[in-house]
Amino acid sequence: MLRQRLAAALCVVAAIAGVQVAAAAPASAAPRVLYYDASQAQEFVSVVNQGAQIWNSRATNVRLEPVTAGRTPNIRIYADNGWPRAQTTSLGNGRVWMGRQAVDQGYYPPRIAAHELGHILGLPDRRTGLCADLMSGSSAPVSCTNSYPNSRELATVNANFGTSAAVTPQTYVWQPALAGAAS
Ligand SMILES: [Zn+2]
Repeated sequence: MLRQRLAAALCVVAAIAGVQVAAAAPASAAPRVLYYDASQAQEFVSVVNQGAQIWNSRATNVRLEPVTAGRTPNIRIYADNGWPRAQTTSLGNGRVWMGRQAVDQGYYPPRIAAHELGHILGLPDRRTGLCADLMSGSSAPVSCTNSYPNSRELATVNANFGTSAAVTPQTYVWQPALAGAAS
């Protein structure tokens, strides 16, 4: 009798464990969290946060969060007087410079921030000249204030993080034709 009760109890435990395993499965589809350190972004801290929020409001497979104490950031963000640029090391990892040269020319800072973060999320430059494209960057008019990815760009980012896509380490510069003159 005792043995039967024990067996019944074990069945209940197994059933609960089974439920937990089943419930845990969707957790693997939770967005990957990338931590960014904007502590060296100087006057661009709030605009960098804005760029991160833009991605968080659209992307489902990745989230950008401010780094917390004791944690190594995936992304470090700086400010300097050159062109904005991003240096990727792997998908979701790298460095961004919020270069003042583009801001001084009138480019919209939230668009710059979201664009450069887009590189970290695995998107290359596509100089289409279209304001609707976030990754058109400086090829769109200076007056362009669109700071949101288009549906194709968004789908690519979600696919990148859905499959942990490999990306080639690269440096992307806001205005490559003039990058030499900027240094
Ligand atoms: Zn770019």
